Amino acid sequence: MTERVRKLKFKSETQKVLDIVINSLYSHPDIFLRELISNSSDALDKVRFEMLTNKKLSTKEDLKITIIPDAEAGTLTIRDNGIGMTEDEMADNLGTIAGSGTRNFLDKIKDSKKEATPEMIGQFGVGFYSSFMVADRVEVFSKRAGSKETGHKWYSTGHETFNMRAEENVPAGTSVVLYLKEDMKEYVESYRLRELVKKYSDFISYPVFIEVEDETDKDQVNTGKPIWTRSEDDVEDEEYNEFYKHATFDAQEPLSRLVFHAEGVMEFYSLLFIPSHRTMEMLMPDYKTGVKLYIKKVMIKEEADEILPKYLRFLKGVVESSDLPLNISRETLQNNRTVKAINNAITGKVLNWLTDMKKDDIERYTKFFENFGDFIKEGVYSDYQHREKLANLLLVWTNNSGDERKGLEEIVEAMPEKTEKIFYITGLDRKELANSPYLEAAGKDAEVVLLDSPIDEFTVEALMEYKGKKFVSLLKESAEDDLTEQEKAEKKTAEEAFAGLLEFMKDQLGDKVEAVKISPRLKDSPCIIVMDKNDVGDMFRRMMATMEQEVPKPKHILELNLQHPLLEKLQKLYDEDRSGDELKTMITTVHALAQIFAGSRPDNPAEFGKLITNLLL
Ligand code: ADP
Repeated sequence: MTERVRKLKFKSETQKVLDIVINSLYSHPDIFLRELISNSSDALDKVRFEMLTNKKLSTKEDLKITIIPDAEAGTLTIRDNGIGMTEDEMADNLGTIAGSGTRNFLDKIKDSKKEATPEMIGQFGVGFYSSFMVADRVEVFSKRAGSKETGHKWYSTGHETFNMRAEENVPAGTSVVLYLKEDMKEYVESYRLRELVKKYSDFISYPVFIEVEDETDKDQVNTGKPIWTRSEDDVEDEEYNEFYKHATFDAQEPLSRLVFHAEGVMEFYSLLFIPSHRTMEMLMPDYKTGVKLYIKKVMIKEEADEILPKYLRFLKGVVESSDLPLNISRETLQNNRTVKAINNAITGKVLNWLTDMKKDDIERYTKFFENFGDFIKEGVYSDYQHREKLANLLLVWTNNSGDERKGLEEIVEAMPEKTEKIFYITGLDRKELANSPYLEAAGKDAEVVLLDSPIDEFTVEALMEYKGKKFVSLLKESAEDDLTEQEKAEKKTAEEAFAGLLEFMKDQLGDKVEAVKISPRLKDSPCIIVMDKNDVGDMFRRMMATMEQEVPKPKHILELNLQHPLLEKLQKLYDEDRSGDELKTMITTVHALAQIFAGSRPDNPAEFGKLITNLLL
């Protein structure tokens, strides 16, 4: 057989990444082992999954990872009997780093001033290249499980090129042989290897062996039992955190975890994490959950969004069920009754977990809410079944909450029993909202909820009421049945008494306002702009604009304070000289003033400025 060696160049970006990995991680060489074991574990997951449908793949050998140090040769081999790679896959996977991963990695390095951190390696799928931190030559022997093709050897010194050739007698799976650098020879010491496996890879579900020649030291190093099936008492926090990092590529530790084993009618294990921070992508509606689904040890789906409601997509971790059939197709998961039952059970557990956290550790819960509160709000309007529980999880700002959000539940429970309404206002800046003139309509001492994100408006509208109290927006014209009997009567009498003036003002203002009315709620401010009670609301309007939808024009109503002397003055002018300029100027000014009270600009600031200047002279 003629030996055919292909000499190939690394893609230019790959070379850059290689250099960065080697140069910036020289102080953390240990991580190479974790990365290679992690690749092997993924390859084992893949073969196990393929075995389900391809009977030929079942081997007599157990799936495992073997580490073989050879002090004499100065090499370290990491071998697995996983899925392996074809010739093309080797060239693609090891010669180019998954395109987008590389670019993101390079961008990130630029942002962080050229320092790569150990976590970034795994995060961007460049783990294999960490081999070159400890080795000056790397050989990979691989054969795709179930393929008729022979195996192949890939080798490189990590400079510009790599070589490939066919190789006889390569067993299915992959072996990575590292020719250790002079100063990296410590990695042939089995105690070192053992220590590293224990520290970084203990949670790997497949057995990891260290095989030392002439020694009977062939026991399994790691626990080897999936971490999610172990009792929480037997697992150190550090192990959970390592697992979390491996599963998510998140450099930071999780905020909280939930270990849960359901038994009885239904059996499943779950290990779920809340990350300690949120990424922009998570908020996208098509973001897939980071929860994996295993059935009887086989990873069936990596982003198993069927097992959680969509609004819990920020969770990470694993669910393993033994009640589901292994041959279930990924497509039919969604309609499977057991999957639905698991989904429901997990949702209940997660909501209890959060409820407890809110009760027992409000500081941690607040941090959770700052990052993931929007998901809870999404749940309030999308999960009718759990709405009450989700609403209990809401934290909100109020006019007297200072710099800490308060629990909606606690606020409402503290309200006098006879209070029937929860007043709220919406806007973009809570500090501005806390000083809003709209607050005065709620009455002195009332605690008003300040909603500062567009999603809040949906949430409140979905809820409509909470613990028997109705949500009422102070930005909107008061609906008849939100007024007390006395307010209703006052309003009616006043509107009759001032009917002529109100109509005159509406005519003067034209289509700037829908109507001019008397407010039974204003206490100090002379006037204000409110929205028609059927208006969609400004936050909603803003949201529609960002989604490039046609936005309906706002319907504004000018409200006048019944108790304010300004009303009398307007009425007097109207009675005495309704065709004169003074009343017209007054009306324009009152409207502009009402806009300012409402936190917006007058329609014509220059004109308004002139009017005020004249007043000062
Ligand atoms: P990542 O594992 O994050 O994708 P790596 O650079 O570590 O990035 O590996 C690149 C690719 O090489 C992997 O995605 C996988 O397709 C392949 N690979 C690496 N190690 C193995 C292995 N032991 N068995 C099979 N394929 C492997």
